Amino acid sequence: MPATLVAMQAPTTVLAEELSNVERAVALYASDMPTGYGLQGPADPNVADWIAQGAARLGREETRRRASYLAGHRKLWLRDMTTPEIDRRHKVRFPSKRRLRIAESVASTSLFWIRVTPAARALPAEIDGPCPKCDDAGKLWVNQVIDDTSGWYEEGYVPCWVCQPEDGAA
Ligand SMILES: [Zn+2]
Repeated sequence: MPATLVAMQAPTTVLAEELSNVERAVALYASDMPTGYGLQGPADPNVADWIAQGAARLGREETRRRASYLAGHRKLWLRDMTTPEIDRRHKVRFPSKRRLRIAESVASTSLFWIRVTPAARALPAEIDGPCPKCDDAGKLWVNQVIDDTSGWYEEGYVPCWVCQPEDGAA
């Protein structure tokens, strides 16, 4: 084997600053952070290390993918719209509810001292499974009242607000 192949590149370092809030939660979940962890002071240095560790373990793209699904699951959960299949996939990714809750809490708190750099791209919420609103059509048929007095309305398709990307998704 050529020597150049043996000298493997170091894994890409991911800085906590480059990750959005939800991505940090995903990274923390995958890190060595103890599940019962309590923050050590207002700028706990362990947190940045764990975020970087978890993101390196999963890889940048997988961290992002899981974060998108986590955001999508949260979006449905808040509206009581999760399906058994979507819940099942969510639990496969995050078997421990308690650990996820702690990871989310530590991630949110980290925003106070590890600011998000412009390199952190906007994160779309994605649904992992058939959309419970439009059944994956991606659009919804709506009657939109244009004028209340005359009862004039228009019908047509609009992008599904559950599964289609919103403008300015964060
Ligand atoms: Zn939909």
